[in-house]
Amino acid sequence: LPKTPSEAMDFLKKNNIKWVDLQFTDLPGRLQHITIPSADFSEESFKTGFGKLDGSSIKGFTSIYESDMVLRPVPTTMSLIPWTPGVARVITEVHWGGGKGRFERDPRNIAETAEKHQESEGYTSFFGPELEFFIFDKVELDASLPQSGTGYKVYAKEAPWSKNGSFIIRYKEGYYPAPPVDQVMDVRLEAINTLVDYFGFYIEATHHEVATAGQGEIDFRFSTLVDTADKVQTLKYVVKNVAAKHGMVATFMPKPIYGDNGTGMHTHFSLWTKDGKKNLMYDPNDEYAELSQIGRYIVGGLLEHGRALSAIVSPTTNSYRRLIPGYEAPVYLVWSKSNRSAAIRIPAYYRGMEKAKRLEYRPPDPSSNPYLGFSAMLMAALDGIKKKIDPGDPIDENIYHMSEEKKKQLRIRELPRSLDEALDELESDTEFLKPVFNSSILSAYIDLKREEAKVMQQYPHPMEIYYYLDV
Ligand code: GLN
Ligand code: MG
Ligand code: MG
Ligand code: MG
Repeated sequence: LPKTPSEAMDFLKKNNIKWVDLQFTDLPGRLQHITIPSADFSEESFKTGFGKLDGSSIKGFTSIYESDMVLRPVPTTMSLIPWTPGVARVITEVHWGGGKGRFERDPRNIAETAEKHQESEGYTSFFGPELEFFIFDKVELDASLPQSGTGYKVYAKEAPWSKNGSFIIRYKEGYYPAPPVDQVMDVRLEAINTLVDYFGFYIEATHHEVATAGQGEIDFRFSTLVDTADKVQTLKYVVKNVAAKHGMVATFMPKPIYGDNGTGMHTHFSLWTKDGKKNLMYDPNDEYAELSQIGRYIVGGLLEHGRALSAIVSPTTNSYRRLIPGYEAPVYLVWSKSNRSAAIRIPAYYRGMEKAKRLEYRPPDPSSNPYLGFSAMLMAALDGIKKKIDPGDPIDENIYHMSEEKKKQLRIRELPRSLDEALDELESDTEFLKPVFNSSILSAYIDLKREEAKVMQQYPHPMEIYYYLDV
């Protein structure tokens, strides 16, 4: 893959590229694109960018009277798009038109600012998200529900209600069965081959997930903040397009099926010295988890700010249908070596391996904006170090089964139960984000999410019709 503008220009020529897809991410986290002729590209374009974007039509961007924006391509992100031959894509930075500088609400801008901030504090960090998703045969809005659009049906080869299914596997028992039980291995395989061959990924694993209906996971090698967020956007883009090629639908929505496991984006995090030579979270002399004092402060920061973070890492009303007991999703703001009901786990696959020492933050789900999510996680971690926040004792017991009395006695805090609750928390706990998140993006983000929560709150739910129609 190209590194410099001149290599990017060679890449366009060598591959006979006719069109270039300029990609960027809106505030809620959706990938957007504009296609332009490759003939318009020169080395200069990587400096000047392309004035093609009307920012007023992008969620969370600008109002109509200040909407001319410029997209500046990042040469290291240029790659071929296998399902549209002759087209390359490149991720872009969003700038104000008229030379007014970087657009402060571009989510990638926040992630770049976060990287600069950590560097100025003497750190570098690595992120390793585990991307989960469902692959369905199709998803249909269910017009038979009292108000059209209030419900949907999903069809999956493996689902009990499937029309095409050859046999049934049970709820919550999807984990790791080999084909033919795993009926979507071909889709995952094509996705990871595409990621490796076209987008420069190093894939660590892919597997079927716990849920019954074609739930899967893809894990790629950890990397730096901005690069990892770019990769999350690329992975979602590839998985959705490959599924579409197979006539199927991939969704990263956190909880599409009642009664079965949801979809998370557990994020592994480690903090190193700026030169990348020393993992600050590793201490071989710590009995419990080889976790250093700095590592404990980082855990402390993430737990302390965990309720505010939820508004960014679990940012949809649907996220809170996942964060409930019984489905390996985190519910409690505690840490542990092995406990999957806890928000933070210290994976213990190896001992004596500095490189592998990290924490796993489990609340995030892939309906989040990864540029904002990783930046916010980093800021909570750094605040933990700055304020020397004690994370308390780890809890290795399954808290799903703990008595209310014991939970009270141990002062166990819980994640918010709704998007509105999470937004309340974020509004009252923004100080730690301020060095990186400007007030313009924070207020635009909160407004956007409040609106989602409000609409959902005003909408009659299919289950309410079932319970209360009372004819
Ligand atoms: N999918 C689950 C979640 O919602 C976790 C299951 C797992 O990865 N072991 O977080
Ligand atoms: Mg995993
Ligand atoms: Mg998983
Ligand atoms: Mg995990």
